[in-house]
Amino acid sequence: MYDLIIIGAGPAGLTSALYALRANKKVLILEAKSYGGQIINASNIENYPGIPSISGFDFATNLYNQVKDLGGEILYEPVTHITSDREVTTSKNTYQVKSIIIATGTNRKKLNLPNEEELTGKGVSYCATCDGNFFKGKDVAVIGGGNTALEDALYLANLAHTVYLIHRRDEFRGEAKYVEELKNKPNVKLVLNATIKALNGTDKLESITTNNEKISVQGLFIAIGGEPQTEAFSNVVDLDENGYIISLDGVHTKTKGIYVAGDVRVKELRQLTTAVSDGSLAATIAIKEME
Ligand code: NAP
Repeated sequence: MYDLIIIGAGPAGLTSALYALRANKKVLILEAKSYGGQIINASNIENYPGIPSISGFDFATNLYNQVKDLGGEILYEPVTHITSDREVTTSKNTYQVKSIIIATGTNRKKLNLPNEEELTGKGVSYCATCDGNFFKGKDVAVIGGGNTALEDALYLANLAHTVYLIHRRDEFRGEAKYVEELKNKPNVKLVLNATIKALNGTDKLESITTNNEKISVQGLFIAIGGEPQTEAFSNVVDLDENGYIISLDGVHTKTKGIYVAGDVRVKELRQLTTAVSDGSLAATIAIKEME
């Protein structure tokens, strides 16, 4: 029997695993897709204390290897249900466990425009570092005003001919340093107070229509934030109106033995630093309270 099941192999979940393994606990990590969470797509991380600059891929892979080297077991099985007596059901198995940490993070939000699904992979993308290379020398747009959109625009500015950064307000949510860098890039055009109304093209993206104009682009990178992955847990945790897990102290859920860590919980700041902080604390408290 495992002592601890961690659901999600992003920075929060992997950090929980690191702490639990170092405390000699038997740990299973269950992941629906691939390790690394959202940070694996970050082109460059520059705000993690002590590491001036590292790619999201390298950071996530180092952490993953650190956990594997300690004997961490990761199975790629989406969790479909958990019960208050800590039975975890996946698409393949059922596990009984002493404690559970939910660290499922968020998935990229969609614009929900009519052509969006059809054009995904045909010009529309949710990952600049994965797909940016297809747009070398071409015109692309990024939509969003948070750090992801700003970082994506900076990354794409080194590849594409022109990058239109489209944001619905005239102030960015992301860091001022990135905004300054973007303003100094001659091939980046800020399109503010704008929303995308239509994606044009049938076999591939040809242009986008905003509330003000039509812009000819071959690529559109959608970076408008995340949606929490909590459907499978709604019977054992409280959720806010957006589906994030409510935890009064940032660690405990309403169910004994079930803890939460990372972007999936209601919190003020969703960053790598706070994700790993959550992960270490959740594991430490889960171990302390383990029966
Ligand atoms: P975010 O910070 O939630 O920003 C989402 C952006 O998309 C906002 O600017 C929002 O506009 C806009 N938006 C939301 N829905 C929209 C819609 N339907 N149409 C048009 N625009 C829409 O998301 P994120 O940038 O993915 O970042 C998520 C978290 O990860 C944040 O806490 C961020 O700081 C963190 N992150 C950190 C780093 C880093 O530290 N290096 C890198 C990436 C992400 P409004 O501003 O008007 O709401």
